[in-house]
Amino acid sequence: MIRQIIQAPHDPGLKTDSAIGGGRQFPAERNVPSQLISTPQLLHRLQTTLDLEELLGIFSSSIAWRIPHDGLNFDRENSGIHLSRGRLSRHSCRYNLMVEQQELGELKLLRGRKFRESELAALEEALTVLVYPLRNALLYHEALQAAQTDPLTGLLNRNAMNRAVERELAVARRTGGSLAMLMLDVDHFKRINDHHGHHYGDQVLAAVAQRLRAVTRKSDMVFRFGGEEFVILMAGTDPQAAVLGANRVLEAIRLCQLPLKCGNQVSVTASIGLSVSREGDSPDSLFQRADQAMYQAKRAGRNRVEWTD
Ligand code: GH3
Ligand code: MG
Ligand code: MG
Repeated sequence: MIRQIIQAPHDPGLKTDSAIGGGRQFPAERNVPSQLISTPQLLHRLQTTLDLEELLGIFSSSIAWRIPHDGLNFDRENSGIHLSRGRLSRHSCRYNLMVEQQELGELKLLRGRKFRESELAALEEALTVLVYPLRNALLYHEALQAAQTDPLTGLLNRNAMNRAVERELAVARRTGGSLAMLMLDVDHFKRINDHHGHHYGDQVLAAVAQRLRAVTRKSDMVFRFGGEEFVILMAGTDPQAAVLGANRVLEAIRLCQLPLKCGNQVSVTASIGLSVSREGDSPDSLFQRADQAMYQAKRAGRNRVEWTD
């Protein structure tokens, strides 16, 4: 398969048209402009947003009159970005988008019949307009990601947690489901730092985070709340399932042993407080109950799960 490289602003490169599976035809974009739009108009439209999904949506609908298509995909492998609009269709044309030697990602247009030469030429012209707004949107996306990520563990941070609790509580309210929150605090972590050094302590935290990710479901969300404290959100989880989940997490931490240079291993335990959302809960009240339960677990001897009703 030949890859198309657009090197903004003047190097359209090679083109390809390849058949892919499916074969069903789907209606083209609904939000199609009633006439051809000029390059400055397209640029103007694309400059109205930094949101990646919205940008690609604007691009797709802006070119649809000239280049009808059923779907548009954008993939940026190394950032884990995979966006797709519309539907899978028989034919595709793909472009590796680049700007100033920097790879932006691969954009693919899909439709039931082959793309004509004149359409590909028009698409290439439109892509040279897209690349700079796309680079800006990617930079913005990456900055947002970084602001929500804890650098030591790679987990989502407290900012991200606050937003997620609000969002998931609203979903629980709407659907009548429940949201479970686990507040996890590593036991006697100060001792680990004091005995083995902060660098080793950091490694323990990273290992704990890795275990938490491994032992939770795909739909669960794991956050580093701060220091040696972690929060796990389990959407659509009732109290019984939440207790089971919390005990699974506790066991996973207990098994989290890191080798020391001297050949020994340090064992880690944690105390977990659990709360499950109920009617009228706010993010604060849900959090307070999980936090209190965690302190209860500490008082009751650590290395255990407690939950408040
Ligand atoms: P408890 O069982 O009561 O929770 O005791 P603890 O020692 O875990 O709790 P305490 O709050 O006394 O100590 C937490 C320690 O965690 C103190 C702090 O220096 C350490 N810590 C916080 N953030 C980090 C970090 O990013 N890296 C390392 N290595 N240590 C950290
Ligand atoms: Mg603590
Ligand atoms: Mg602690």
